[in-house]
Amino acid sequence: MSLLKFALAAALIAAQPAAAQSPDCPGNPDALATSRIITADAAATPRIGRKHFPATLPLADKEVVLTFDDGPWPGTTSAVLDALKRECVRATFFLVGENAAAHPELARRELAEGHTVAHHSFRHPLLDHMSQAAAEAEIDRGFAAVDTALYGQPAKQPRTPFFRFPGFAATPALLDRLAARQVVVFGADLWASDWNPMSPHQELSQVLERLEASHGGIVLFHDTRQQTAAMLPAFLRSLKAGGYRIVHVVGPTT
Ligand SMILES: [Zn+2]
Repeated sequence: MSLLKFALAAALIAAQPAAAQSPDCPGNPDALATSRIITADAAATPRIGRKHFPATLPLADKEVVLTFDDGPWPGTTSAVLDALKRECVRATFFLVGENAAAHPELARRELAEGHTVAHHSFRHPLLDHMSQAAAEAEIDRGFAAVDTALYGQPAKQPRTPFFRFPGFAATPALLDRLAARQVVVFGADLWASDWNPMSPHQELSQVLERLEASHGGIVLFHDTRQQTAAMLPAFLRSLKAGGYRIVHVVGPTT
């Protein structure tokens, strides 16, 4: 490159506006990164996700919230965390209590790497098939198992007051009970359908098509699924290329 061309190139670079997203991602200056953080509070948004509820988070066009259910699980959860870390992206994990009890080091890694660690019951039953008392006990046991894995002991209320019903099998009485306890119930705005076996490439194409149709939103994945772990690096690159922005959701006490 001639000196003149070099000077012109340098001037052009200097004239560009500062990137909206933080480039502060070690080893990856082109990272997707987390665009902004929002707090979800049961007083304002008790139930979110348009697949099941009338409201969702106040997201702008092309803003995406990443959520992962059913872990932590050896192998796949670590791969998901590695992919998120490489892009400096923060997500929300909805943990199954017995998996958190079996693999507390993975739950603690999620927390240590800045992710939101939330709740998905203890053994993942369909809570609408149980008595109210049994369903509430199952939810509480899940809260306690996850918080014990993360913090050594449970508190009266879950540290992060976010819950997603296994199989989205809610009842009006349980929704009321969780609202009374200031727990935000998460549905989803779209999903990858990654409970169905498919190749990572098929999953990637499908979820990108759905994101384009919905203009962003809360996306549901499962960090227990190999195909999801495998497609995640390419998915995050595609979000960056497509101009999507990642929003990290935190609870009111975190
Ligand atoms: Zn689940």
